[in-house]
Amino acid sequence: METENKSLNFLEEIITNDIESGKTKLLITRFPPEPNGYLHIGHAKSICLNFGLAIKFNGKCNLRFDDTNPVKEEDEYVLSIKEDVTWLGFEWSKLCYASDYFDQFYEWAVELIENDKAYVDDQSSDEIRKNRGTLTEAGTDSPFRTRSIKENLDLFERMKNGEFDEGFCVLRAKIDMSSSNLNMRDPVIYRILKREHHRTGNKWCIYPMYDFAHGFEDSIEGITHSICTLEFQDHRPLYDWFIDNVSVPSVPRQYEFARLNLTYTLMSKRKLLELVSNNVVTGWDDPRMPTISGFRARGYTPSSIRRFCNEIGVARTESMVEVEFLHHCIREELNKESNRAMAVLRPLKVIIDNWPDNVVDELSAENNPENPEAGTRKLKIGKTIYIEQTDFMEEPVKGFFRLSPGKEVRLKSAYLITCNDVIKDVNGNVTELHCSADMDSRGGEAPDGRRVKGTLHWVWEGDAIKAKINLYDHLFTLRDMSDMEEGKDYTDYLNPNSHILLEEALVEPGLALAKPLEKFQFLRHGYFCADKTTSQYMPVFNLTVSLKDPWGKKQQKR
Ligand code: ATP
Ligand code: MG
Repeated sequence: METENKSLNFLEEIITNDIESGKTKLLITRFPPEPNGYLHIGHAKSICLNFGLAIKFNGKCNLRFDDTNPVKEEDEYVLSIKEDVTWLGFEWSKLCYASDYFDQFYEWAVELIENDKAYVDDQSSDEIRKNRGTLTEAGTDSPFRTRSIKENLDLFERMKNGEFDEGFCVLRAKIDMSSSNLNMRDPVIYRILKREHHRTGNKWCIYPMYDFAHGFEDSIEGITHSICTLEFQDHRPLYDWFIDNVSVPSVPRQYEFARLNLTYTLMSKRKLLELVSNNVVTGWDDPRMPTISGFRARGYTPSSIRRFCNEIGVARTESMVEVEFLHHCIREELNKESNRAMAVLRPLKVIIDNWPDNVVDELSAENNPENPEAGTRKLKIGKTIYIEQTDFMEEPVKGFFRLSPGKEVRLKSAYLITCNDVIKDVNGNVTELHCSADMDSRGGEAPDGRRVKGTLHWVWEGDAIKAKINLYDHLFTLRDMSDMEEGKDYTDYLNPNSHILLEEALVEPGLALAKPLEKFQFLRHGYFCADKTTSQYMPVFNLTVSLKDPWGKKQQKR
């Protein structure tokens, strides 16, 4: 795995100090997703951070499913999360499930009750909310706050035994209803949910809340540095309060970092699930989705995503990362590693009139000019070929160096041709071009050394194969999705052109054998990968990223 030579980030500094002072003997981190959806690129940042720190400091990192809410959690998500972490190139030290600790959580809740630090509250959730107070007003004690320990123990056990309906009562920590931190105003720690859990089935009908469970999960696993995103900063006193008030096996400490925000991207499992359920996309792995499985289908590599996560760094203030930087990371890698191929996305027929009938020439083309070891391949050409419709203009605008009547261009790795005649249909659309080739320009250079500016990609009618091509663009039209106008939601910003399917593309014959996810540079277009459904009979390719690099250009100008 790649190592970076950058100065230490704030977490690395903290860990270095903790190791040097002897406070931390063995660094243990964890990546703790809730299995309620597929992982997105924001999770990749957390994965690279937690697993990366463990690698850097010879520590360990657990993959832990934070599965304390049976309502939204499913095994399908567990499987996909394991697959994604592995695909990104990381190995967990232990695979853990918060649900394995349900018995222990229950005991600790009882311990809190026994120490008069928790009580059963019969108020409705509305009443609890109302009595919580505001930032400027203290909360009001629940009328049930002074219940005896004995009564609380009895009621909590009966909650566990299923004697009460959902919402009838909850268990709350007894902390401080006038704390300036609202999280400390007697937070709910257990609620009744008569739901089947994806692992514990119907064993439980009470489930712990995130804040109560999370620190305990960390403590049970001996996590030394529990890293989460900034919105949990105000929860840290509560995290510590639970750890301080029951007999836990180890004392973890929580640190917060800024979450990843990307331009033109939404990153919330809940909203991504809505896109899937409402068929706005084809699934969690739709190549337009910001999910790890979406990026995989789109042709991203694990190393490009790791590089992106390492280079954006870790900070304590929120910021917005340009999605073009992510594109830049994959583009640079594919430029070095992918073989070139000719693909004509919107074909226009070209007949070379002076080409002798039934003659086929076999040319040689480099597979990857960036990598001589990639070798060469044979390309055949004959009398009828196809070029890109956009490479011809009957009345060329200024600066258009491609084909137009009377103009000469180079067919990549082949011959120079000049356009002599344009054939149109009844509607005036160009359907066919008649050209002549300089038969002495084999390989693409004129014998007299005359300069020919435009170079076009092409395929030969005799061996080109039909392919489907999926072009993709941003799923949303808004650069910063937190800037939505009042009264609008993200569905108002869906990009109608985020997917364009081209069904009439023609590609060079070797691409029939492309394996799913195999990557290519389609000359003059961009990087594409074979779709998971690709076959010899119907090759399908997905656009990974175009050749244009707005991010790289911006950096050069700086
Ligand atoms: P979502 O709101 O998308 O469901 P979440 O934070 O609820 O995200 P979890 O499954 O709880 O999702 O997240 C697992 C870990 O990934 C947490 O430690 C969380 O902080 C981290 N994480 C989630 N989103 C991001 C992000 N955008 N950038 C960095 N880390 C993230
Ligand atoms: Mg969540």
